[in-house]
Amino acid sequence: MEWGCTKCGVEIPQDREFCDKCEEKHFRKIGGFLFLPLIGLIVTAASYLFVMTDAFKFLTENYAQLNANAKIFFILSIAIYIGEFLFSVTVLSFFLKKKKLLPKLFIFFLISVVATMSLNVYMLYRLIPSAKIGYNELVPVFRNVITALIWIPYFITSVRVKRTFTR
Ligand SMILES: [Zn+2]
Repeated sequence: MEWGCTKCGVEIPQDREFCDKCEEKHFRKIGGFLFLPLIGLIVTAASYLFVMTDAFKFLTENYAQLNANAKIFFILSIAIYIGEFLFSVTVLSFFLKKKKLLPKLFIFFLISVVATMSLNVYMLYRLIPSAKIGYNELVPVFRNVITALIWIPYFITSVRVKRTFTR
């Protein structure tokens, strides 16, 4: 029996699904599991935009009542949110352009999210002693640690990642 490419029908060895040409095209598209980090990036960028606006609104509305440490906390938090927002937009554009540098940049971004979130909780603890550090502060950090633990190995080892980000 003749074995053909499942897309174009060109004859290929039996252990393969696509011919070279179709396989190349197949991997060029952002497919498979890669839709998940792409959606995650968009959600992350949007949520930085929201927390940034919230913190800025809170700071300007309550500026007179806040003590010096609280002001420092909110200003540093907003700076972190702006930095991470710009970083996430950069990663997103590298992702969509399928840049070769994307896997490394994405890994660095995942680490930066965990690092800046932890820093933010630490600053809250140091600068606003009356604030209780609890579930609402720690769960997002753990959630992002888990996200990083899933995607970092995937972006290092995946063949699809290697073949998608080639430009
Ligand atoms: Zn083919």
